[in-house]
Amino acid sequence: MTKTELSKFKKILETKQEELERIVRKRDAITIEKSADALDEVQHASERELAIRNLDRESHLLRAVRSALRRIDEGSFGICLHCEEEISPKRVAAVPWTSLCIQCQEQADRHREEGTEDTFEEMLVSAA
Ligand SMILES: [Zn+2]
Repeated sequence: MTKTELSKFKKILETKQEELERIVRKRDAITIEKSADALDEVQHASERELAIRNLDRESHLLRAVRSALRRIDEGSFGICLHCEEEISPKRVAAVPWTSLCIQCQEQADRHREEGTEDTFEEMLVSAA
């Protein structure tokens, strides 16, 4: 990958990171919010549940974005963490924070569906 491409992706990722940090911070506020009213409490409970689920997803994405930025600095950006093959430029352009090539991603998704190894990607992200 050329320096120009790298700095382009870095900009995209930094923007995404800021956006996600904003969302995660805002959701934190929702999660903490409490209500004295009992009926409201039920409503809030499901809202909180939803907020927490979303927060999980956003936090996960934020971690992926951060680790992609780290890989840009380390010079391993665009390389699959699992098989160490180059990730297709089309895939990187579509999902710049991806850490897996399409084959490994499909494998990870399959694992997740089967529920056998839902921490597969997490593991790779934290190993990065
Ligand atoms: Zn791979």
